[in-house]
Amino acid sequence: MRLVLALALLASCAPATEGDAPLPAGPYAVVLGTAQDGGLPQLGCRAACCERARVEPSAARAVASILVVDPEAGQRWLLDATPDLPSQVERARAHQDPRDGNQVEGRPPLFDGILLTHAHMGHCLGLLHLGREAYGARGQRVVCTPTMARILREEAPWSLLVDAGHIELVEVEPGASLDLSPRVRAEALPVPHRGEFSDTVGWRITTPAGALLHLPDIDKWERWEQDLREVVAGVDLAFLDATFFDGGELPGRDMAEVPHPFVVETLQRTRSWLPEERAKVHLIHLNHSNPLHDPASPATEQLWASGLRLARQGAVLGLGTDSGRP
Ligand SMILES: [Zn+2]
Ligand SMILES: [Zn+2]
Repeated sequence: MRLVLALALLASCAPATEGDAPLPAGPYAVVLGTAQDGGLPQLGCRAACCERARVEPSAARAVASILVVDPEAGQRWLLDATPDLPSQVERARAHQDPRDGNQVEGRPPLFDGILLTHAHMGHCLGLLHLGREAYGARGQRVVCTPTMARILREEAPWSLLVDAGHIELVEVEPGASLDLSPRVRAEALPVPHRGEFSDTVGWRITTPAGALLHLPDIDKWERWEQDLREVVAGVDLAFLDATFFDGGELPGRDMAEVPHPFVVETLQRTRSWLPEERAKVHLIHLNHSNPLHDPASPATEQLWASGLRLARQGAVLGLGTDSGRP
């Protein structure tokens, strides 16, 4: 499988890819947000990282979320329901919106499925917008693990979403997979991550054209039972946890309390990879403090030099086939 960058090479500094370029004919991904759960700017932060994003809206970032689109089937799936769901639904509007043309009455599901990774706020809070105080969806399918489903079914305020039929839960055990359609399959990869409420999974989505991995939250790579290189080898696009650039990012706070792979560790781990392997990696879920939010930072320069990529909000990324090859 070969990765095709659909609209613009991420290596360029071109603006987001919404625009005049045609959308891919085959399955593709849209980056709807790239920030850690708190977004950018983050509540209460008076440092330059967030003050800049308040002054320049183009520097702001929604919370990490990916849209998977199968244009041939007219279907789409949302990976994680973030607190920024309302703006992300609008950002997703050009991509197989089931309400196209206003031909659908009422409040139909916004997506063919919403897949959740875990119970932290950046990954599920958006579901509340589907309740009667806001959109009032009818039967939005939500795919998650049994521990996550239990929270949604039994705990307030989520339980009302289920009881009133706004969402319909589809459970997938960690390690198991589910056919989202006859053409698209989702596999829940269990990952280690702070689990106060639920377990955590990454989603591997396989389409007729190629596959992607959405892995926004994980503890250190060495705590994962899977080998990162092998997992990335099996996909065309890998959206990986890049919460913190390095260990000096949260002055006064013990960073062991919030373990994530530092970007410098990911750079080290991927150094021996082939260039085409590194080019699959798109870093996502950046804390507001992460210097990769600043295109002029030395950290950004270091990343570009490495061959890894930064997921860019608004980017449309095709999943390539081996067309033309035997
Ligand atoms: Zn998160
Ligand atoms: Zn900040």
